[in-house]
Amino acid sequence: MDILPSVRAEVESLGPGGSRLGAKKSLGQNFLFDLNLTRKIARSGFPLSEGTVVEVGPGPGGLTRALLIEGARRVVAIERDERFRPILDRLTEASEGRLSVIYGDATKVDIAQHVVATDAPAQIIANLPYNVGTPLLVGWLLSEPWPPWFAGLTLMFQREVGQRIVAQEGDKHYGRLAVLAGWRCQTHLMFDVPPSAFVPPPKVTSSVVHLRPRSNPLPCQGKDLEKVAAAAFGQRRKMVRQSLKSLGLGQDGLADLMKRAGLEGTERAEALPIATFAALAQTYRDLVS
Ligand code: SAM
Repeated sequence: MDILPSVRAEVESLGPGGSRLGAKKSLGQNFLFDLNLTRKIARSGFPLSEGTVVEVGPGPGGLTRALLIEGARRVVAIERDERFRPILDRLTEASEGRLSVIYGDATKVDIAQHVVATDAPAQIIANLPYNVGTPLLVGWLLSEPWPPWFAGLTLMFQREVGQRIVAQEGDKHYGRLAVLAGWRCQTHLMFDVPPSAFVPPPKVTSSVVHLRPRSNPLPCQGKDLEKVAAAAFGQRRKMVRQSLKSLGLGQDGLADLMKRAGLEGTERAEALPIATFAALAQTYRDLVS
C-alpha cells in the first residue's frame, strides 16, 4: 500500500490538467482523502481481521485503502463508475488478493452472493452515495431471512439522515426510518464529519452511523411496518385514529386495530414506541389476511 501514490494524486492522474475528474453529483461523489479519517471509519465497525467487508462505492479508494491498511482480511467493493477502474486495479494488485471490485449498481447487485458464508461475520462499511444511501439501508433492513448475512453496518450519511436513523420516540427526527432501523437493529451515531473533509465539500455535515442487527426483532412483517409507519407519519401532527384512516380498514377495522394494539387513538405517531408500531403492523396483517 505504501508504494501507491496518494489518493488525491490518483484522482488527479485521471484527468488532464490535474483534478479534472468531474465528481458526479448524480452519483453522490464526495471523496475522502484524509487517511487518518478513513482509518477511523474503518476501525468503527467490527474487527477487520475476520470475515468479509463489503464497501459500496469505493470511488478512488480512500476508505478501501484504509480498510486494507487496518488489516481487513477480505474486501468486496461495488462501484458504479468505471472511471475508477485503473485506480482500483492498482489497489487490487497491492492488496495481494484481499480486495475484489465488482462494477455495477449496488441497488441491483445481489451482494450476499459475493460474501462467502463461511467467511462470517460479514459487515458493510461505506461512505454511501447520498442519492441511494437511504434506499440501500432500507433494503438491508428489510432483508429476509433475518438475522441477515451481515453482522454490522457502519455507514456515512448526511447528519440529518443519521439523526433520523437513530431517533427515539418523542424526538423530532423520529419517523419511518427510525422505526424500521430500531425494529431490526441497535443503532448508534458514532461521530460527525465536517463538509471540509470531503472533495468536493457537500453543503451539510455528515455522520457515521453503526447498526447492529437484533437477533430477535419483534415479530411483524417489514412491509406492514413500513405501511403503518408511512400512514402514521404521513400526518404526524394528527391523532393516530385520524392518520391511520389511510390504511383503508374502515371505521370498525380501525377501531379494532386501535383496541388490539392497546391504543386510545388520540396518541400522535411521534409518541409511539417502536414496539407499538410492531404491534400495529402485526394486527394490521391479521385484519387484512
Ligand atoms: N468511498 C469513497 C470515499 O469515501 O472517498 C467514495 C464515496 S462517494 C460518497 C460514493 C461512491 O459511490 C462514488 O464512488 C460513486 O461513484 C459510488 N456510487 C454511486 N451510486 C452507486 C451505486 N448505485 N452503486 C455503486 N456505487 C455507487
